[in-house]
Amino acid sequence: MKRFTDRVALISGAAQGIGEATALLFAAQGARLVLLDLHAESLARVAEGCAAQGADVIAQPGSVAERSAWDAAVAAALARWQRLDILINNAGITRDARFEHMGVEQFDAVIDVNLRGVFHGAQAALQPMLAAGRGAIVNTSSVVGLHGNFGQTNYAAAKAGVIGMTKTWAREFGPRGIRVNAVAPGFIATPMTAAVPAKVTEKMTAAVPLQRLGAPEDIANAYAFLASDEAAYITGTVLEVSGGLSM
Ligand code: NAD
Repeated sequence: MKRFTDRVALISGAAQGIGEATALLFAAQGARLVLLDLHAESLARVAEGCAAQGADVIAQPGSVAERSAWDAAVAAALARWQRLDILINNAGITRDARFEHMGVEQFDAVIDVNLRGVFHGAQAALQPMLAAGRGAIVNTSSVVGLHGNFGQTNYAAAKAGVIGMTKTWAREFGPRGIRVNAVAPGFIATPMTAAVPAKVTEKMTAAVPLQRLGAPEDIANAYAFLASDEAAYITGTVLEVSGGLSM
């Protein structure tokens, strides 16, 4: 039996990187999917890949920073399947700069997507989950949200905020059957980190006890575990998936 047979999952940021790997893994595990991303073309390509694995999938272009995009994605799931079981709140961006040079527009852009986007997603997804009395939400934080990082005031603030929201929602909604957890990835090889100079990547890799960057699938596997019934007694936790970076 596949892990997510009959389950409906909404995955944001699904057009590339970790979100793409997650969509393909959930499809292989029998989930029915709504995929939300800014980039309609790449999203359609990922949706085709999921459909090729036999998944029933809806590609929903839109921005996680807009509540209306989330409402449309949730409405699409309910219209087709009358349920929503899982939210993977994965979309995220970076706009790095040293703090003394960081413009407020850089700060706001990252907060809008990485923090407010997660807020909107959870609020939209909770409605059908609360009505059903069950559901699982997985939010994407980062090791940067735990420890801070040079040049990432905006990103660290958002990712630390995600942890605060995750724990708050775990307390508020645990009694009503909904689990809320976060994953804190370390350095993962995706388009987000592809622009990092090779020298820096080498330095980053050297700091990781497992001596490699993570693959998108490493994070997808953590999302899948926390979203599945195998994690039925886990809520309010932050699962670091970083090759041991934080020790
Ligand atoms: P990525 O840039 O490869 O993919 C992010 C996806 O999110 C893209 O498809 C993009 O179009 C989408 N997206 C961006 N803004 C959006 C918006 N407003 N609305 C809808 N979709 C939007 O990044 P990734 O590395 O796959 O990152 C996925 C998540 O993991 C992010 O939350 C990121 O912060 C987090 N993370 C990544 C790393 C890493 O090393 N790659 C480390 C820690 C945390």
